[in-house]
Amino acid sequence: MTYVPRDLEDGHLYISMEYATAVHLCACGCATKTVTPLSRGGWTLSFNGAVTLRPSIGNGQAQCRSHYLVNANKIQWLPSIGEEETRAAIARDHQVGTSVHTVPARTGWWSRVKAAVLRKH
Ligand SMILES: [Zn+2]
Repeated sequence: MTYVPRDLEDGHLYISMEYATAVHLCACGCATKTVTPLSRGGWTLSFNGAVTLRPSIGNGQAQCRSHYLVNANKIQWLPSIGEEETRAAIARDHQVGTSVHTVPARTGWWSRVKAAVLRKH
């Protein structure tokens, strides 16, 4: 996974406008890289001084099974995601042709949303 910044910092959301993708470390602190394509059928990122991501982020493939919303720079925790939901999410990703592996390998164009984005609990 060389297309994302090598050293992601906990508590930050990294955004590529060029590739319409955002990435962050799982908000639970387990350090799983979480990639959210910002495309049709993917996630929607809005910024009005604070970052909001829709829909929720489910790390069903990570051990923590974290499920949360990024809501105005804050993490809003949701019930743990089940395997079935994860499978459905993966199927949906394939459907819209969005894959975390399709982003070309390049760094240096990631803007970092600084400040208190994605603070733990
Ligand atoms: Zn986690």
